[in-house]
Amino acid sequence: MNQIYFYKVAIPARVYNLFDYLLPEDISAKLESPLKTGVRVKVPFGTRTQIGVIISHSTESDFEKNKIRKITEVLDDSPLPSTDCIKLADWAIKYYCGFPGEIVSLCFPALLRQGKQAKYNGQKQWRIFKDSAISKNAKAQQRIISVIKENNGVLCEKSIPEPIQNNRNAIKKLVDNGILTEKIIPSFIKDQELIPNTFTPNDYQQQAIGNVVDSFGSFSTNLLYGVTGSGKTEVFIQLAQKVIENRQQVLILVPEIGLTPQIVKRFRERFSVPVATIHSAMNDSERLDSWLGAKTGDASIIIGTRSALFVPLKNPGLIIIDEEHDQSFKQQDGLRYSARDSAIVRAQINNLPIVLASATPSLESYFNAIHKRFNLLKLPNRAGKANKPKFSVIDMRSQNSYSGLSNKLISTIKKHLAGNNQVLLFLNRRGYAPVLMCGKCNWTSACKRCDVNKTYHHADNVLRCHHCGHEERVPVQCPSCGSKKDIFPLGKGTERIEESLRSLFNGYSQIRIDRDSTSRKGSFEDIIKKIDAREYQIILGTQMLAKGHHFEGVTLVAIIDADSGLFSSDFRALEKLGQMLIQVGGRSGRGDKKGEVVIQTRSPDHPALTTLINYGYEKFCKEQLRERKEINLPPHNALALLRAESMDRKNCDEFLLQIKDLAEKVGLKNNIELYGPIANIITKKRGFYGAHLVIQAQNRPQLQKALEQLFPQITNLKNSKVRWVMDVDPQDVV
Ligand SMILES: [Zn+2]
Ligand SMILES: [Zn+2]
Repeated sequence: MNQIYFYKVAIPARVYNLFDYLLPEDISAKLESPLKTGVRVKVPFGTRTQIGVIISHSTESDFEKNKIRKITEVLDDSPLPSTDCIKLADWAIKYYCGFPGEIVSLCFPALLRQGKQAKYNGQKQWRIFKDSAISKNAKAQQRIISVIKENNGVLCEKSIPEPIQNNRNAIKKLVDNGILTEKIIPSFIKDQELIPNTFTPNDYQQQAIGNVVDSFGSFSTNLLYGVTGSGKTEVFIQLAQKVIENRQQVLILVPEIGLTPQIVKRFRERFSVPVATIHSAMNDSERLDSWLGAKTGDASIIIGTRSALFVPLKNPGLIIIDEEHDQSFKQQDGLRYSARDSAIVRAQINNLPIVLASATPSLESYFNAIHKRFNLLKLPNRAGKANKPKFSVIDMRSQNSYSGLSNKLISTIKKHLAGNNQVLLFLNRRGYAPVLMCGKCNWTSACKRCDVNKTYHHADNVLRCHHCGHEERVPVQCPSCGSKKDIFPLGKGTERIEESLRSLFNGYSQIRIDRDSTSRKGSFEDIIKKIDAREYQIILGTQMLAKGHHFEGVTLVAIIDADSGLFSSDFRALEKLGQMLIQVGGRSGRGDKKGEVVIQTRSPDHPALTTLINYGYEKFCKEQLRERKEINLPPHNALALLRAESMDRKNCDEFLLQIKDLAEKVGLKNNIELYGPIANIITKKRGFYGAHLVIQAQNRPQLQKALEQLFPQITNLKNSKVRWVMDVDPQDVV
């Protein structure tokens, strides 16, 4: 190739530009065509070498040719990510105001970002290829052959039997001599016993399946709104079956795989084709294997968390988002993308149907469904014989209570335990007490680096900040006035409720489940198994427990304190509370016994609560949407937040005011409203003051247009004292 090309390369860094590079002549001469978008290259960047990605090429450059640096190595013959994934990443970076270099982290798993080769890392497997005679002196080789014959002709690296464990050299010789074949089995290939399909869908399930199947091969967005226990997973399995029959792949996104191992297990039990998973608990090699399995088509079903959205798929047929309302689909650092919303864009690019599923759809999705932008598919009945749970409210203003547990709740717990049932209690506050206080001088356990109090953890005997992680020993005397007898814990966390439950229900086996306890008591999965086996009668936990677990023996679910959700400055707080109540309610009464959900509150007449309890989630959604319209909040309009933080509050505010001016100068005031700077509710975190600017537009396209103009301008401001990030479609505005 004689033509000289200038390549624009994306470098993983917080810079708004792409960088121009040239190919050395010896490499260029060997190429028949210019390097393609998505090819990895090693380039000099500053004083270091970086791995970047080719974005485009051109015969011209804005820079002088002799000042342009040279690519040092070309890592791929052809791009590893598929064209549609690059297109999707490009869309996400533009929509969510990211930096072009973020394409590297979105489109490549860690090992490829480090420049490793795209090949499977799983375990080696050997089989006998030809059974030719082995020299009598080669005792080790003979032993290996006889062991393999005993093992049905296969030997796997991770399960080499004892007698030949130290004979790796002999195995290698057998491979070199062509007696054994060696193959790498990717790590997503697992042995799993299949359970035959005996499932017959009910009419609603059949209708939902039929609707989605009819739209195979074309883009459609389907909201599968199925009450808890209505058999959504079974609908997924039936749909996946149809996709696989068409020799296509299914991509399923779930909120947090650590919390939902059941769905992976159910797919592995029902499908003989490989199921690959992608989530944070896997190591880099396993993740690369799954990524390659998706790319090559070796894996037919891919189940993963948020980041799995960007895997290349050889032959995509369907995308499913389970628990689509879950907040974990929105990334909260780096590029703040919503995997749910981006998945809809991917479905559009791939021209295939997408299913968003939930028992408690997000207001956004429900809004889109009632406005016919999404197809609404309902599963209104619980499958099998399980009944809907009964909700009731306990007015804490008129109740005597023992350490946060009202007398009424205590007697209800007693009744359920006496019936040989399990009870589940929720409190979304870890630790013993949120504050330690001195009664004499009013000292509180404030964190020096954050604008919050440190939580008192009794078992560890520490005060720990839940925002910056800083901790210290619990003082034996008041750090302020020196009093030794006036320090007391104020308020209640799970640790303290656990203590009360132990003294009240002595003789019943109990477990507390929150981030503090599970890190000690073994894996979450084991605990779930023990609850299923009824090893515990009383289960106390944070919302970790509210996600997707079915406990057949639980007949009572109690919310110890609903008030923090009822009165919050976060505009989604009520939506989240409603979802939480319905979701935890779904944990009870799944067996043949009717479940009961009890909510402790000081505001039993709160309209959101009464609507939810008396009329159900759908009516609750309609009311919430009406309220959001009145105060002009999403989904009735579109929001972005420019979040800034600095050691000095003044810098923060000045920076945000500067942006406001800038917006005015470029004439954006006509299309958007700007509010702020507004200090964050927790004004100081980790020693940094935080404030934000609210950018509001009538709809997403208008917001996009404005941000496209504004964002590059912000990146041009040189302000080393302020860290900032754009948060488009934010989860909260506090
Ligand atoms: Zn702190
Ligand atoms: Zn004191």
